[in-house]
Amino acid sequence: MNGWKKIDAAVRATAKVKIAATDTLGADLFTDKSDAEKQVVEDAAAINVLQDRLFAERKRALLVVLQGMDTSGKDGTVRGVFNVTGPLGVIVTPFGRPSEEELAHDYLWRVHAVTPKKGFIGIFNRSHYEDVLVVKVRKFASAEAIEQRYDQINAFEKHLTENGVTILKFMLHISKEEQAKRLQERLDKPEKRWKWNASDLEDRKLWGDFQDAYETMLRRTSTQHAPWRVVPADKKWRRNAIISAIVRGTLEEMDPQYPAFDWKPSDFVIE
Ligand code: AMP
Ligand code: MG
Repeated sequence: MNGWKKIDAAVRATAKVKIAATDTLGADLFTDKSDAEKQVVEDAAAINVLQDRLFAERKRALLVVLQGMDTSGKDGTVRGVFNVTGPLGVIVTPFGRPSEEELAHDYLWRVHAVTPKKGFIGIFNRSHYEDVLVVKVRKFASAEAIEQRYDQINAFEKHLTENGVTILKFMLHISKEEQAKRLQERLDKPEKRWKWNASDLEDRKLWGDFQDAYETMLRRTSTQHAPWRVVPADKKWRRNAIISAIVRGTLEEMDPQYPAFDWKPSDFVIE
């Protein structure tokens, strides 16, 4: 869409971002629900075509990082924005608690192993940022180790971008009230009950600590090469519209090209 740069500029994190003062509704970004939903359908179709070109070109990749509190809509974003992108070209990787093998390595080991290959769109459902979020809040690593990670992550992401990976980082920003509503739905609706995880309540008790960790993350790791977008995510339709616009706009700017050939179709006869 034409207006995507304006939307993008509105949600870019600055070095002084204050998470508590950052809107979770974003009412002025998309005003009409059905227009926004139509836009997402158009964007999703365009993303599919662009991904095909990215795959044909095989020179670059796109990495979409989704972070947010429980119920912030990470799964819903994948479903809403990439639902018509050919499954051959998109790989979604969820990051849960590290295994013993993963813990025996440095924290970026498991991440680097699943960064998208040239031609692919990789989506991280949670990411290496958990290592400065839950790990910080729960004190799974020392304060010194965590302090070093911001620069390490910036260097890692610079390395990726210099090697053909464009990185889009989205923090899905919901209010504590909206989380309460969504958690309650998981109890109330039988088809959502499978998502219920009592430990989400433990994280909810630490809401303030998590928000502080998010704020520091945004301030320290929103770089020129891989800036953060803080997406107002209380409304699912608006969240999808913001993200689909930015993903589409970014892919259009990357402008992947079908490869050139040293032969002409008329060189061949199929009998
Ligand atoms: P979910 O995304 O709801 O399936 O939950 C995955 C869980 O794994 C979340 O509670 C994350 O906080 C947790 N997790 C992800 N990465 C890490 C990590 N590096 N260390 C500890 N816990 C993590
Ligand atoms: Mg959790």
